[in-house]
Amino acid sequence: MLYYDTMTNKIYIKRSRRKSVAIKIDNQGIITVFCPLNYPETKIKQLISEKRNWILTHIKKINDDNLKNVDFINYKKLLLSGVAYDITYDDKNIKIGDVEQIKYRKDMVSSLKKWLKKRAEETLETRLNHWARVMKLSYSKFFLTQARKKWGSCDNEKRIRLNFRLIMLPEDCINYVCIHELSHLLYLNHSKKFWNTVAKFMPNYKTIKKQIKDYSFTLQLF
Ligand SMILES: [Zn+2]
Repeated sequence: MLYYDTMTNKIYIKRSRRKSVAIKIDNQGIITVFCPLNYPETKIKQLISEKRNWILTHIKKINDDNLKNVDFINYKKLLLSGVAYDITYDDKNIKIGDVEQIKYRKDMVSSLKKWLKKRAEETLETRLNHWARVMKLSYSKFFLTQARKKWGSCDNEKRIRLNFRLIMLPEDCINYVCIHELSHLLYLNHSKKFWNTVAKFMPNYKTIKKQIKDYSFTLQLF
C-alpha cells in the first residue's frame, strides 16, 4: 500500500504478522512503515505526523550524503581501500587514477564491475583466511556476493559470504567484517559473548562499525 504525505515523498506501508510498528528510511530516502496486519491507517498517519521532525532530519542527512558522494554515484571517481581515484576512459581503456588501467568492454560500469569482482575475489579471501588463522577458526566455504544490503553473512553450515564492494572500503572495515563473520562461527547471534569475541580481535570495533555506515552508499553502486 502506498500513502502520500505532503511533507516528503512517498511513504510505503507494509503490513505483516508483526506486533510492533517501525518506520524505516533507506539510503535512497524511501520511507516504509512496517506494522501489524490490522493496524489502522489513522494511527499510521498520526505516527508519521509525530515523527515528522525525525523523518525530515533523516531525509536531509541522506540528501546531504548523496550530494557528498555524487562523484562516486556518477562513476566519476572510484573508491579503492577507502581512497578516491578519478576514473577516465576512452573506447579502449579505463584508467583508475594512475594506479590501474583496464580494458574497456561493452560499457564503462560493467567493465569496472568485472575488474572489481576479480580483485575482490583475490583480496577478500586472503583477508578472511588471515583472520581465520589468527582467530583459530575454520569456515567451510567462501562466497563472493553482490548483495545490496549486507556486507557479509555466515550461516549454520559455516559458509561465509562477503560482498565484493568491500574492497572499496578502508582495510579496517574489511577486517571488521571478516572478524564479525568469523565470530558467527562461534555464535550465530549478536549476543554479549559474540561481541566479546569481536572485541578480543578488534578492540576498537565500535568505531569501525560506525565508520562502515558512511560507506553504505557503495552498496548501491555497480
Ligand atoms: Zn552479524
